[in-house]
Amino acid sequence: MLLSFFSIMTVRRQSAWAKNNSRVICRRMLCVAFGHEVNNFRFGLVNSPDKNCPCGLPILREDDSHTRIGHVVSCFLFGHHYRLAGRRDGYREYVCERCGHPLLFLHTRSEYSGQEAFRKKVRYRCNLFGHRAHEVTRRDGLVEYACHCGHSFLRPPQRNTLLKHPLLCLAAGHFIKYVTSRNHYAEFRCRNCGHTFCFVSNETGRRE
Ligand SMILES: [Zn+2]
Ligand SMILES: [Zn+2]
Ligand SMILES: [Zn+2]
Ligand SMILES: [Zn+2]
Repeated sequence: MLLSFFSIMTVRRQSAWAKNNSRVICRRMLCVAFGHEVNNFRFGLVNSPDKNCPCGLPILREDDSHTRIGHVVSCFLFGHHYRLAGRRDGYREYVCERCGHPLLFLHTRSEYSGQEAFRKKVRYRCNLFGHRAHEVTRRDGLVEYACHCGHSFLRPPQRNTLLKHPLLCLAAGHFIKYVTSRNHYAEFRCRNCGHTFCFVSNETGRRE
């Protein structure tokens, strides 16, 4: 009687383990296909600078390593949820609470001024034909450009400031590496397009 009870428990444990294992394998296959999942809501809940993808692998390390991140479809279709992250270089900087997409607006620009948080849809025209960008500042050995739609890039000096998203990034996601930290965020930059992303870094918060 006791023996059969233990054998039932063992079988149940094994099937739960197998189920969990196959879920992780599925998740890893999705990440290999589309890139790892990022989510600033989730990162904000963890009191550590170390971040993991739901597939279980460590991502977004604040060192020289690259993380391949996927596109957040909900942000692309329904808009980003921006929150004011700070002020610098005459600009207000916002960060998407979901995907980490930054946005730069001049202080003097009235639209969104005085707003701590707002939802903004992607400007599909810029995405298709390119962003008409202007120089914001020079930092971290690169030039920061921003379009009037708020989209920014950190690139080497550009002759042509009509900045486009390369097909590689659209198809494969962004390959991002840590650049710097400010205002509770760690900033990362895509090596192929210069797109930056800001992710909640609790270590940054503790250092201040
Ligand atoms: Zn992953
Ligand atoms: Zn977003
Ligand atoms: Zn634009
Ligand atoms: Zn990219």
